Amino acid sequence: MKCAVHHVPRGARSPAWNMSLRILLIEDDAMIGSGLRQALERAAMTVDWVKTAADAASALALGEHALVLLDLGLPDGDGFHLLREHRARRGALPIIIISARDNLDARIKGLDLGADDYVLKPFETAELLARIRAVMRRHAGSASSTLTVGDLTLDIASHEAQFQESQALLAAREFALLSTLCSRPGMIFSRAQLEAAIYGWGEEVESNAIDVLIYAIRQKLGRSAIRNVRGAGWMVTKDAA
Ligand code: CA
Repeated sequence: MKCAVHHVPRGARSPAWNMSLRILLIEDDAMIGSGLRQALERAAMTVDWVKTAADAASALALGEHALVLLDLGLPDGDGFHLLREHRARRGALPIIIISARDNLDARIKGLDLGADDYVLKPFETAELLARIRAVMRRHAGSASSTLTVGDLTLDIASHEAQFQESQALLAAREFALLSTLCSRPGMIFSRAQLEAAIYGWGEEVESNAIDVLIYAIRQKLGRSAIRNVRGAGWMVTKDAA
C-alpha cells in the first residue's frame, strides 16, 4: 500500500480540528518530551512536539491543536512570553503549563497570564492526563467525562464506547477518530479532515488508514455506529440510523 506523508495545510482552518485530540507539546527536554509523547499517544492523543520557543510560536499561530502543554524554560525564550503573546492575539487554545518552577509567584503568574492549569514537574502521567481531560471538558462546556450522541456513548477516560447493545474498548486511533466524529454530530468529515484530526505532522498515513479504522470501529460497535455519506465522508448523528 502506498504511503503518503500527511502535510498540515496552512492557513485553512477547519472547525473540526480544534475538537480533535491533537496536542501541541512545547518541551525542550528530550527525555521528558519523549516520555510524555508516548504516554499521550497511548491515551489516544496525537502529539506534535516542538523544542524551541520559535517553533512553538509558529505552531501556536496555526491554531490547529486541541490543547497545548507548555514548558517554561526553553533554550531560546520563556514559556510565559509565548503564553502572553498567544492570549494578546486573542488565542483561546487551552494551555497547561508543565514546569519545575514551583514558587508561588510563577504559578500565580502563569494562571493570571491565561494558563488553564499549572502542573509541577515531576508529575505522575496519570494526573496530567486527568488534568488534560478536565481542561478539555471545561472548554467543551461539559462537566461530564462521557460524550453521548444519539445511541453512542464515549467514555473519555477509559476509551470505552457503547452503541445500542454493543460495548467495546477502542484502540487509541479508533477512539480519536470516533471522538472527532462525535465532536460535531451531523457534520460530514472528509477523509482529509479525519486524517488532519488524528495524525500529527510528518506522520506517514496509509492511503486506506481511515477506512481500516472505521471498519474496526464498526466491527466492535455495529455497522450503523458510523454513517457513510457517499463521496463526501463519514458522520455520526443524533437520530437512530
Ligand atoms: Ca525546559
